[in-house]
Amino acid sequence: MKVHEYQAKELLAQYGVPIPRGRVASSAAEARQIATELAVPVVVKAQIHAGGRGKGGGIRLAATPEEAERAAGQVIGMTLVTPQTGPEGRLVRRVLVEEQTLIERELYLAVLIDSSIGRAILMGSSAGGMEIEEVAASHPEAIHRVDIDPAAGFQPYEARELAFALGLSGDQLRPAVGLIGGLYRLFVEKDCSLAEVNPLVVTKDGRVLALDAKLNFDDNAIFRHPDILALRDIEEEDPLEVRAQSEGINNYVKLDGNIGCIVNGAGLAMATMDAIKLAGGEPANFLDIGTVNDSSRVVNALAIIGSDPGVKAILINIFGGMARVDVIAQGIIEAHDRVRLPIVARLAGTNLEEGVRLLQNAQVRVERAEDLGEAARKAVAAANG
Ligand code: GDP
Ligand code: MN
Repeated sequence: MKVHEYQAKELLAQYGVPIPRGRVASSAAEARQIATELAVPVVVKAQIHAGGRGKGGGIRLAATPEEAERAAGQVIGMTLVTPQTGPEGRLVRRVLVEEQTLIERELYLAVLIDSSIGRAILMGSSAGGMEIEEVAASHPEAIHRVDIDPAAGFQPYEARELAFALGLSGDQLRPAVGLIGGLYRLFVEKDCSLAEVNPLVVTKDGRVLALDAKLNFDDNAIFRHPDILALRDIEEEDPLEVRAQSEGINNYVKLDGNIGCIVNGAGLAMATMDAIKLAGGEPANFLDIGTVNDSSRVVNALAIIGSDPGVKAILINIFGGMARVDVIAQGIIEAHDRVRLPIVARLAGTNLEEGVRLLQNAQVRVERAEDLGEAARKAVAAANG
């Protein structure tokens, strides 16, 4: 789950990470009011669940409350296109109005999981403001990392090392170490999958503070954090994914291709997407439908995938173990009249014969394939034809 910058900053503040003074506004008049209260030049920042807002025109400096009002009036209601939103952009509903910061240096700081070593790591770079992927490609030497031993836990000396590597010393060292420790504690206690501050800035008057903040949370742990779940903004999420979740389909991820996929098992679903790519196609989604013992889940999944206007063909790949092929077949038959798209099915495993017999008796238009490669090729051909 993602949250907005203003929400992330409130959490950072609870963990002692310094942030600029400011508040969120949902109208131009409210933005003016906040700027008046702050009584200093402000920055007006579009609140969407995507970064790169600066490049897209979603970050505006305003010297007076009137300018803040005008900037907010332009930004609220705009469809902001950034390198992270895709060409369709995102509608801006709110802005964060903050005191302007006089920046001396921009740095990068993050806590994330390195799944290859199964540990949380601290990552810092002296090239702040840039996307970390760009820095990794062009200045890999500017990136410093510290692997945190989960048994020993985070140690202050690790934060000191990182702070030194980022050129923070003297009076900045102690606050920087406190800030890094706070960010790490937040990451662990709130079950984040990413806690990123980009840029972390050194101000002209020597303070260190979080100018931007991005927090992602592990969906599998969100049940432990009702306070975080309360921050959810469904309007920022993909409507088909929201609908899938509300229908008990928790592993649907919308993608941009034209072949809808219904697969049981996350690994098999990944392999299915690979096979589609190998056959020259593009998957329209990831979906692990799980162990199906009720045909309505298949019906719902077919309805969701069928309502994605980009989908031109559906590939069903089921390796029946605990999931039964006859239940899947029953779902295909029930949904069939409503989903007017070519369906290619590779079915194997438990109750295969019964499933095939049901499909044949119902005379549904399902093209069978014996193996995954054949299924992918047939689905690509159907989508292109
Ligand atoms: P992002 O583009 O979505 O990552 O938004 P950020 O919050 O990171 O802002 C982008 C850039 O705008 C930062 O890297 C800064 O260079 C600039 N910026 C943001 N806030 C301020 C501010 O208060 N003062 C100044 N001078 N620049 C700012
Ligand atoms: Mn940023």
